[in-house]
Order: sequence, then C-alpha cells, then structure tokens
Amino acid sequence: MNDADLAPDPLLEPVLQGQRRSLARAITLVESTRPDHRRRATALLEALRGHGRESLRIGLSGTPGVGKSTFIEAFGLMLTGQGLRVAVLAVDPSSTRSGGSILGDKTRMERLSRDPLAFIRPSPSLSHLGGVSRRTREAVALCEAAGFDVVLIETVGVGQSETMVAEMCDLFTLLMAPAGGDELQGVKRGIMEIADLILVNKADGDLKPAASRTVADYAGALRLLRKRAQDPEGFPKALPVSALAEEGLAGAWADMQQLAEWRRAEGHWAKRRAAQATHWFEEEVRSGLLAQLTDNPRARGEMAALAAQVSEGQQSPDAAAALMLAYLRGESLDSPPQ
Ligand code: GDP
Repeated sequence: MNDADLAPDPLLEPVLQGQRRSLARAITLVESTRPDHRRRATALLEALRGHGRESLRIGLSGTPGVGKSTFIEAFGLMLTGQGLRVAVLAVDPSSTRSGGSILGDKTRMERLSRDPLAFIRPSPSLSHLGGVSRRTREAVALCEAAGFDVVLIETVGVGQSETMVAEMCDLFTLLMAPAGGDELQGVKRGIMEIADLILVNKADGDLKPAASRTVADYAGALRLLRKRAQDPEGFPKALPVSALAEEGLAGAWADMQQLAEWRRAEGHWAKRRAAQATHWFEEEVRSGLLAQLTDNPRARGEMAALAAQVSEGQQSPDAAAALMLAYLRGESLDSPPQ
C-alpha cells in the first residue's frame, strides 16, 4: 500500500458537501467496469459509509407512457418546494427507444433538473434491465451520503428490474394507468406483492371515472394478498393521482411518510435495510464468481473445451461441470489477486 492508497479520495469531501457535479462524477466512477475504477469506487463508498445520513429511498416503476417523468417532476417539485433535497436516478428513455442517443432526452423533467435542490441522473447504458443495475444501489448510497432527503429510483419494469429496485428502496411505488376495461392490466402478482403504494395516474378529465374504478380494482386485489409484517393497517394502498393536474400528490406523500415512520418505529425499516445489505453482499459474491469465469481467458478456454466435449457426447453435462468447478477452485488459488 502506498501513500496514494491512504489519501482520502478527492471526491469524498465534495460529495459529503452535496456538490452535484462531484456526485455525478462519483456515480460515473461506480458505474465504471474498469478494475482500477472499481477499487477506487469501493474505497470511496466505504469512506462515505457511516456518516449517519439516511434518505427516504423510493422506488417508482411503471411502463413507458404511464406518466413517470411527469409524476417525478411534479412530485419532486412539490418536495423541493418544501425545502427537501431530491435526487432522481432516472431511466433515460432515449436509450431504450433508439439504443443510446448521445443527446439523451433533454425535455424529460426539465423544470426539476433546473431546481437547485434537485439532482437528476439518467442511466442510459443499462436499459436492458429497465435502467437499473446493482450499481444503481451504489448510486443511491452516494446520493444518501450527499445529504439528499429523498432518493427516487425509477425503473420501466423490464425483467428483474422491479425486484432489484425493491431490494434497494425503503418504499416501492407502482404507477399505473386507468384501465380501459374492467380487468387489471396484466400486473404480475409478484409485483403487487412488493408494492407499498399503487398510484393510478391520469385521474383527470375524461379518465377520472376509469381511474376510480381501477383504484377500486387494485385496492380489492391488494386486500387479497397475504398480510406482510412490515405494513400497518391500510397498507399496501391504491390511490388516484394526476401528475399533470398535480392532484393527489400531497396525499401520496403523506401516505409515504406515514408508512416510513411506522416502519421506523416498529423496527421494520432497519430490518429491511439489513436484509438488503446482506442480499447485495451475496449478489456481489455471486457476480464476482461469475466474473472469474468470464474475465479469465484460461477459464474461458477450459469452459469452451469442456463444452465441446459435452456437445460431442464425450462427457455428461454434470461430470464436465464438476471438472470445471474443480478447475476454478484451483485457478482461484493459483492466480495472483487482481
Ligand atoms: P413515462 O414514459 O412513464 O415517463 O410517461 P410521461 O411522463 O412521458 O407521460 C406520457 C404521456 O402521458 C405524456 O403525454 C404526458 O403528458 C401524459 N401524462 C402524464 N401524466 C398525466 C396525467 O396525470 N394525466 C394525463 N391526462 N396525462 C398525463
């Protein structure tokens, strides 16, 4: 270890002071896959830990077009209007639509992005997972260290992204559109089970009656779910909102606060965060093990050779897998630490 390793990271102080440009740099650092960046990111996150700051982390999921950016902008401005600092880890829809435009979508949340109390970070590169990855959790931790009161984590709900977001937030909110017919819009049961609030957006104008019916349908569906220990009476809950008319937002915020306070008082908050920390530790180990397989050319070669033997019928899949795992055990002992 040399002196450079011992010196505090130059991003440490400015992030703690809540400087948005440094926060953006720190997020870029944690998103980088370069091994030296990863080492620096790990050290920075470690140094920032334990500064005693805690944000309310709110996950927000919904299909494209449901009104997420309209909601986040209106909701975010309401919160900054109360003097709260709001960070948004947003999905960049331009990358989902066009496979990564350099310009991004500048019109999304324009007013909120100009607000000095807000910080918006689009995540364009990871669109295959609805805009989230395990590094999003580290971005959340950085926003928290930077003193934001609320961190909103947006996802478009692709693949595992909703469950991933639920593993990094204190409250999980689902934004839905009013249903045309009387059926619930194909919401996966698993998603209902992780939702704390279902907000039926666009409850305005001609859509208002449909929104009310949809709220009643979701409320009914939520009542059928198994009661969770981490919920007070009346939660999870379905509510109508209009992001465009800015209606129902204060009510949604009041419910979020009520739920958060109850969970804090009852010890569920700390328990959930502890379970999440354990989850991400296990995830890091799992992905580290996978990286040993994919990042090491010798391991890849061994894998390809065994795969060829399996495909030619010279080895059974499980016998070849046992050989591969034995090889990896030897490999990890032999190879110098990275
Ligand atoms: P996102 O793709 O989920 O981020 O959705 P947007 O926020 O871009 O909204 C998609 C469309 O729905 C836009 O044309 C919005 O103006 C409209 N929209 C969003 N919220 C509301 C709302 O509360 N009421 C109505 N009527 N339209 C809305």
